Amino acid sequence: MKTTEELKNLLYKNETVADAAPDAIAAAQDFCEGYKTFLDSAKTEREATAYSEKLLTAAGYQKFVPGTSYAPGTKVYTINREKCVLAATIGTKNLEEGFHLNIAHIDSPRLDLRPVPVFEKTGIGYLRTHYYGGVRKYQWPTIPLALHGVIYRADGTRVNVCIGEKDDDPVFCITDLLPHLGAEQSKKPLGEAIPAETLNILVGSQPLQGEEKDAVKRNVLVLLHEKYGICEEDLISAELCAVPAYEAMDIGLDRSMIGAYGQDDRVCAYAALRALLDVGQVQKTAVCLLVDKEEIGSVGVSGMQSAAFDTFMADLCAASGTRRDVCYEHSFCLSADVTAAYDPNFAEAYEKRNSARFNYGVGLCKYTGARGKSEASDASAEVVARVRRMLDANSVLWQMAELGKVDYGGGGTIAQYMANRNIDTLDAGVPVLSMHAPFETVSKLDCYMTYKAMKALYEEM
Ligand code: MN
Ligand code: MN
Repeated sequence: MKTTEELKNLLYKNETVADAAPDAIAAAQDFCEGYKTFLDSAKTEREATAYSEKLLTAAGYQKFVPGTSYAPGTKVYTINREKCVLAATIGTKNLEEGFHLNIAHIDSPRLDLRPVPVFEKTGIGYLRTHYYGGVRKYQWPTIPLALHGVIYRADGTRVNVCIGEKDDDPVFCITDLLPHLGAEQSKKPLGEAIPAETLNILVGSQPLQGEEKDAVKRNVLVLLHEKYGICEEDLISAELCAVPAYEAMDIGLDRSMIGAYGQDDRVCAYAALRALLDVGQVQKTAVCLLVDKEEIGSVGVSGMQSAAFDTFMADLCAASGTRRDVCYEHSFCLSADVTAAYDPNFAEAYEKRNSARFNYGVGLCKYTGARGKSEASDASAEVVARVRRMLDANSVLWQMAELGKVDYGGGGTIAQYMANRNIDTLDAGVPVLSMHAPFETVSKLDCYMTYKAMKALYEEM
């Protein structure tokens, strides 16, 4: 006969970080100061890459040279096309025993400019956009926007663009209809109320003197020429992104949360990078990989499906005379991407017992996917068991996370592309409220626990 106490222990119950590890509250606040700086410096994948490279070189990481054999403890990195970071600390064990990987993505949903973006309509100058990733279009009008990116002129020279971030910079915005005239618009379903063709960015209204046709557009082009030495055609060979023009900020009287643009998935990217920077001598080679294009399917040369990662790994393995496929087979990966936090405001979309909640720690996703685990790598029981043991042994608070009710939708991430390479992989990350919105919210304790989880993997034997 079991006692009441023993019976209670049979039930699965998780605790908040505040209850289980009160010391973590101050540590999480500290950790998140660096994270907020990262967010403010990294609103695009290019900027996230450049800022990560700064942190890496400051910590003694050197450019990886294929063909070189590196001693244990050596810190190396390489950058793929300014949009991906591949960094490693060489372990004491032979690569045949595999490596420990923490991976995350550094692209976020936003509005990209079209190749021929500038136009004028009835005295107002606009930039035409094509949204990148899964945006809810109604969330993007009437917020301040900044323009970030690069432009290549006809002669091949390059200009870096960043307007809207400095205190005295102008910003941009998209307009919306006033409620007084919004009766018809208000009848439309959310997904149809703001069509993509109306996501046009206000760029100017002052006509160029003496011009009869397109005087506002011409004035905009004159200003662009004066500032950047470019003409309209140069915008064709450009990557310009409109992103929210505000910095990361604390949320709540208790300052327990962070509100910012682009936390999916820079919150996990920062955790993974910080873990690599903070870990000492590792036994298995520790690899941190920050990739692009997750929001549109991990495609292209800078996405997780690109061969760039395999090339880096093959070069690393070659230096120690190891076959890459043997190394992969013995490797382990935490694929860090944000998960949906349970939102009591929209409770009907979630299944409470299997949803991640704020302040319960890093969310482990055995599988993501949509409607029947489609496109999920579905980690094995063995993989989940290993991570559970590792986190418990390192006092890392964790919780299980499914996206929400099965028939409501779903989503994928980069875990499957690592698993496809024959690397045991578990998806893990920070629970987020308002995911993909221009202002996403996370809990600081969860950010900190995700960092601790990444670090625990690197420190494993
Ligand atoms: Mn993501
Ligand atoms: Mn996403």
